[in-house]
Amino acid sequence: MPELSKAIAARRTFAIISHPDAGKTTITEKLLLLGNAIQVAGSVKGKRGPHATSDWMTMEQERGISVTSSVMQFPYRGRVVNLLDTPGHEDFSEDTYRTLTAVDSALMVIDGAKGVEERTIKLMNVCRLRDTPIFSFVNKMDRDIRDPIELLDEIEQVLAIQGAPINWPIDMGRDFKGVYNLYTDVIHQYTPGMGAVLADDRRIEGLASDAARALLGDDYDDFLEEVELVRGASHQFDTDAFLAGKLSPVFFGTALGNFGVREMLDDFVQWAPPPLGREAEQRDVSAAEPAFSGFVFKIQANMDPRHRDRIAFLRICSGQYDKGMKMRHVRLGKEVRIADAVTFKAGERVLVEEAVAGDIIGLHNHGTIQIGDTFTEGEALQFTGIPHFAPELFRRIRLRDPMKSKQLQKGLQQLSEEGSTQVFAPLNSSDLVVGAVGQLQFDVVTYRLADEYKVEALYEPVNVYTARWVYCEDARKLEEFRKKAADQLSIDGGGHLTYLAPTRVNLAVMEERWPDIQFRATREH
Ligand code: GDP
Repeated sequence: MPELSKAIAARRTFAIISHPDAGKTTITEKLLLLGNAIQVAGSVKGKRGPHATSDWMTMEQERGISVTSSVMQFPYRGRVVNLLDTPGHEDFSEDTYRTLTAVDSALMVIDGAKGVEERTIKLMNVCRLRDTPIFSFVNKMDRDIRDPIELLDEIEQVLAIQGAPINWPIDMGRDFKGVYNLYTDVIHQYTPGMGAVLADDRRIEGLASDAARALLGDDYDDFLEEVELVRGASHQFDTDAFLAGKLSPVFFGTALGNFGVREMLDDFVQWAPPPLGREAEQRDVSAAEPAFSGFVFKIQANMDPRHRDRIAFLRICSGQYDKGMKMRHVRLGKEVRIADAVTFKAGERVLVEEAVAGDIIGLHNHGTIQIGDTFTEGEALQFTGIPHFAPELFRRIRLRDPMKSKQLQKGLQQLSEEGSTQVFAPLNSSDLVVGAVGQLQFDVVTYRLADEYKVEALYEPVNVYTARWVYCEDARKLEEFRKKAADQLSIDGGGHLTYLAPTRVNLAVMEERWPDIQFRATREH
């Protein structure tokens, strides 16, 4: 295989999906430890500082962790793993959804005591849109968790995906002894208290061995029976079903105890798919194509307070980035030479010399890059499937100092391009309406407006129930609608006509009255 295709085939690009507190941060740290990206556990910044008193502080701390770890790359067993961080707070779920469009697989972490939780269900639904292959890790085996068979059942019922246990836990809580691999017939023994280091893999070959009998003691026969039951009642691992997103291999372990994570990662780098092809409006693009292409899925400000700039995260879909190469910014139809793409290592930004399909690079954004933008080596491609969701909460935003309305507009425009909040300019007034998915985003907007744009803004309630993007094939009809409904129409930050419905009933009435007009709850970038 030529060098480039070899490098691409080695990439494993994924994100972790889980409910808050299931152990995402902890397992991330152990993965980095295994990948030699950090030396001692505890060096990934925790999000629960002792002074986290308000929601706002929590968010700042979460931003703290994102700053150091937006994209983590480490080599492992001949592969190159890219782990994309997603914000933990629900108010930033849009960001998470879009990050999931940039991965080829996902790791679902489940708290064994709590089972499948609400946030996990939502994120799985997003993964299903693209049939993303899912690995599952049932965490916290060092505690008394729920019956593993029941948990498997819940995964299947609630998440509508088949679960194929790869290893099976031997006891739990204080008596947790390790896991038994159903395919290799090896027991990996658990040693408590080794969470911060890379403990040796203590193996027992064969469930029939004397060592296995000694380990299990009086429980030996019961365990044999349990294993038989599990083998009979659960699904076999099947590569095709896994790659189609229909079946998930399930691993048990404890992230805090750094146990079971290595076994999972070993299989992950083997089984998880290399960079997959992507759909563009014009055609499908295969990762193996030599010409560079990629799309922006996330924009983050203040990656480094000293630089005060914004980084656009680009997923490379095909080919290779070389420092100093010429790219086409397709939406603007402009050629740009990029010599300063960055990545992040241990919290520091590093210039990227080269990166290949599957990798994520950070582009400096001086206001010309938006979420969903495609970059290529020349071809006019537009990647699809990067969603924008109608906000659920709305506020009118007002200035304390009316002289600063230019700064306010600029600030809001830039914040909306980052995708975390949306701004609407009503056709018939000079107000500005901010829409968000979560309450916390409003706080972020005022904080950042003050901090970065030096404008003090405050919110007022506004009578908006929901927003819908307006589409219509018929220009005449659209114009008529524009006139008749002008009081409810706005232009959003991306220049799209948007209907701000005051009530649910009003929206229903309008949809009925204007059958030629489409009112869409999502729009693609
Ligand atoms: P996140 O919100 O999903 O990132 O969860 P964290 O990684 O921050 O973990 C939430 C809490 O669960 C923390 O107090 C962790 O120390 C704890 N935790 C994580 N993994 C385990 C585990 O395997 N066993 C136990 N007992 N606690 C764990």
